[in-house]
Order: sequence, then structure tokens, then C-alpha cells
Amino acid sequence: MAENQTVLFHSTVFGPIRSRRLGISLGINLSPDDGKVCSFDCLYCEAGYNRQGTGTTGLPPRQKVYNDLRSTLERMREEGMGLDVITFSGNGEPTLHPDFPGIVDDVLALRDEFYPDAKVSVLSNSTRIFTPAVCDALDRVDNNILKLDSAVEHTMRLIDRPTEKSFTVERVVEGLKRFAGTAIIQTMMLRGEHGGEPIDNTTPEEVDALIEAYRKIEPREVMLYSIDRSTPEEHLQKVERPELEAIAARMREAGFNVLVS
Ligand code: SF4
Repeated sequence: MAENQTVLFHSTVFGPIRSRRLGISLGINLSPDDGKVCSFDCLYCEAGYNRQGTGTTGLPPRQKVYNDLRSTLERMREEGMGLDVITFSGNGEPTLHPDFPGIVDDVLALRDEFYPDAKVSVLSNSTRIFTPAVCDALDRVDNNILKLDSAVEHTMRLIDRPTEKSFTVERVVEGLKRFAGTAIIQTMMLRGEHGGEPIDNTTPEEVDALIEAYRKIEPREVMLYSIDRSTPEEHLQKVERPELEAIAARMREAGFNVLVS
């Protein structure tokens, strides 16, 4: 994989996928079917690096997202299938879609019509939390899952590689305070190297900095995870579960509700 690793999802609605952690889930990909659109270029991105390009199909129009989700939910209901969660994820950053707020409303309405007990989750990299309409939409979903991989500027830039220089740890932590008590902060734990530079966000200093940032943000929950599939940067190592649990224990001691996934 690595350098030639490319997008994972070739449709706007994907699944249902059955997982132990999420149950039965459907995914919504607001990026093109054959390209990636993201404001980060993470070394660990399962969809590959941004330089593969944005593809040819463009962002799916709001009406297409609605139609595709509606027909999938109709089919699932006819087949008597259950549904636990609908998750915005896919080949990039969902909040970059210009109609993201309207699409969230459509998805919530379809959820209410077909599977009122299912949750709606958004996996976001936090780069668009400075746009009020995006924040308001994130407030409306059940699980607003926002990324903070490191609270150390240099490490965040190495791992996540934001495309805009104005995106800084200080600014994002300040912005994330808006979601105090509601946001789920997702932190990818890893170590390795890139371009000869070592990377490790599991050191005591890094964990202390994260705890300090979480104190300011006051998240509803912290989700710790590590690499699960192949990554575009090959020199990254998975942090195994016992170590993730040890880091989680430190965070719990600091008063946070931490889930290791
Ligand atoms: S934010 Fe998500 S989609 Fe974007 S590069 Fe990182 S892992 Fe990939």
C-alpha cells in the first residue's frame, strides 16, 4: 500500500457494516467517489495522501446524498435490518462540503423517519469549527466527534499536516471550548518517523499536554485509538491496547471519561 494507497469508499452511502464496537452502521462519504478532499493530510490516513488528487466525480450534491440514503434506509427496513448508527466519515473531511449543515438536517430527518433509535455521528478533523453554521450543525448530531491528535504544535503539524498555516493547536483548543460537555475528542496514538523525523505522541510530555488541552475543552468523552489498517507513511507503529489503556488510566485519573477503541 503506502504511497499508492488511495480512497477507501467508492460511493456516497456505504455499508451497512457490522462491527462489535458500533453495531450496525451506515457511512456517509461527502467526498468524491474517486478522490480525497481534506484540510489535513494525516500520515495515517486510511484514504491515502491528498496528492492522489480530488478525483473526477466531485462532491456529491445534497439531493444525491438524500436520495442515496433514503433508498438505502428503505431497502434496509424492507429487509428487516436493524441500524445503530449513521456516521459521516469517508474519503476526507465531511464539514468541507458547502452544504454540510443542510445535509445534516436531511440525515437527521431520514433517521427520524426510518430508524428513530439510531444515532447520527460526525467524524471531523476540527478544521471547520470556526464557521458558525458548521458548529450549529455539529451541535445537532448525537455524537460530535472532533479530532485532536496532539496538543504540541510541532507534533500536530508532523502527524496531521494541516493544509492551512492558520490552523494551530492554540486556536483549535480555544475553538473546541465551544463544545464543552458535548464533544467527543478523538486522539490517534502512534509513533514512528516521517522523512527521518521521529514521531511519538505517547510520551509523558505529550500526554500531559493532551490532558491540559482536554481540561480547557471539557469534552463529554475522549476516544483513544491507534492504527488499524495500512497507512500511507509506512514507518508508523500501532500503539497496542495495553499501552492505550495505560494512557487512558492517566487521563481518567485527571477526571476524563475515556474510551479505548
Ligand atoms: S483528517 Fe481524516 S480524512 Fe483527513 S487526512 Fe486525516 S485521517 Fe484522512
